[in-house]
Amino acid sequence: MLRDTDAMDDCIFCRIAKGEIPSRKVYEDSEILGFQDINPQSPVHFMLIPKRHIASLAEVKSEDAGMLGRMLALTGRLASEQGSPDGYRTIINTGRIGHQDVMHLHIHIIGGPQPLGRMLPKATG
Ligand code: AMP
Ligand code: ZN
Repeated sequence: MLRDTDAMDDCIFCRIAKGEIPSRKVYEDSEILGFQDINPQSPVHFMLIPKRHIASLAEVKSEDAGMLGRMLALTGRLASEQGSPDGYRTIINTGRIGHQDVMHLHIHIIGGPQPLGRMLPKATG
């Protein structure tokens, strides 16, 4: 049976994880890959993905908790190494409401020398 965690041939981040599409790597171990965002929103903008295909945070199962925790635990060191030692923002866009464009779970790590703007635009009305 095909699980949603099997590698997906048409998934761009699965293809990056398999080395079929090049990326500027910032981190790699047996289950996690970190690479620079191709369209950075800030001087520091990279992301961490599980090498296994998980479509979104909404699909994460309890058995994925260790891996997800390890991804989060890497962010501080990697953000410092990438030039954001005084803090950063992690973003996980999820599904249609969260404006997720690539349907393979990824954590954005965004920072740089200057403080970022607000997390969300001020609500109107
Ligand atoms: P999201 O809206 O959270 O799904 O974000 C998807 C992110 O993937 C965007 O910030 C894109 O710039 C980034 N992205 C798309 N294709 C690539 C690629 N080939 N290499 C690196 N980043 C990519
Ligand atoms: Zn994938």
